[in-house]
Amino acid sequence: MRIIIFGPPGAGKGTQANLISEEYNIPHLSTGEIFRSAIKNETPLGKEVKSILDAGDLVPDEKVVALVEEELKDDKYDDGYILDGFPRTVPQAEAFDEILDKKGKTLDAFLQLEVPEEELIDRILSRGEGRSDDTPEKIKNRLDVYWNETQPVLNHYKQQDVVKEINGVGSIDEIFARIKDTFSN
Ligand code: ADP
Repeated sequence: MRIIIFGPPGAGKGTQANLISEEYNIPHLSTGEIFRSAIKNETPLGKEVKSILDAGDLVPDEKVVALVEEELKDDKYDDGYILDGFPRTVPQAEAFDEILDKKGKTLDAFLQLEVPEEELIDRILSRGEGRSDDTPEKIKNRLDVYWNETQPVLNHYKQQDVVKEINGVGSIDEIFARIKDTFSN
């Protein structure tokens, strides 16, 4: 299964992606995690993207697309994967269509986690992960970037008829049960 999990910062993408990864035995590819780990390990990529992540801005499309394309060459992704944090702009979605096309593969589902805006900031502040982009100012910027640049990705996938809307309010287990329901129907 090839799945994209999508939604605003604070929607719980990472948490649900981990559960999906375990349940369906597919690797979880999180671009945010790749960047945070590169920053922590002070790799060349980490040094390049640190100030961008700190500000809550987006890493340039070419860089993210090249990174994902390279990562997906690993044969652990041959039987499917769950993408979290990518694609995040319409050009990234178009580039991902081409990556799939070249391999003769298709996307099985685009899960859209729906959470009301007022709940997002509270959730991010209370999860206390200590991320340097989890301050009120930076969260506000990440949400602005989301509404302006990322939200249009939803329409891109609506045209492909793969979007499944998931109510993202409730307990982790409740939300995960909703996700599993969409796959069993
Ligand atoms: P969240 O959705 O909670 O903000 P992520 O872990 O998905 O967290 O992303 C953290 C940061 O990593 C983003 O704010 C951005 O700077 C960078 N990033 C992650 N994925 C992408 C992407 N596909 N394109 C551009 N930047 C990205």
